[in-house]
Amino acid sequence: MDNSNFTPEFLEKAKGKTAEELIALAQGEGIELSDEQLKAIAGGGWNGHHCDRCGSWDVSFFVHGEGYRCNECGYSWQ
Ligand SMILES: [Zn+2]
Repeated sequence: MDNSNFTPEFLEKAKGKTAEELIALAQGEGIELSDEQLKAIAGGGWNGHHCDRCGSWDVSFFVHGEGYRCNECGYSWQ
């Protein structure tokens, strides 16, 4: 997904936000979300974390506390 409209500052502010809060934040910042991004957010693809390597929001959280994994590039982190 192309997330190039998200600045590092925006992603920093967006950490820990819910989908609704994220959309409101983007609107407040004058960032236009693509249909693809809105779909990903609405579909639960946003959990307040993004991949540091590729910027994807398609991130899985491991419930047993192992950390996070990016579903797009496979990068995992704590
Ligand atoms: Zn990634």
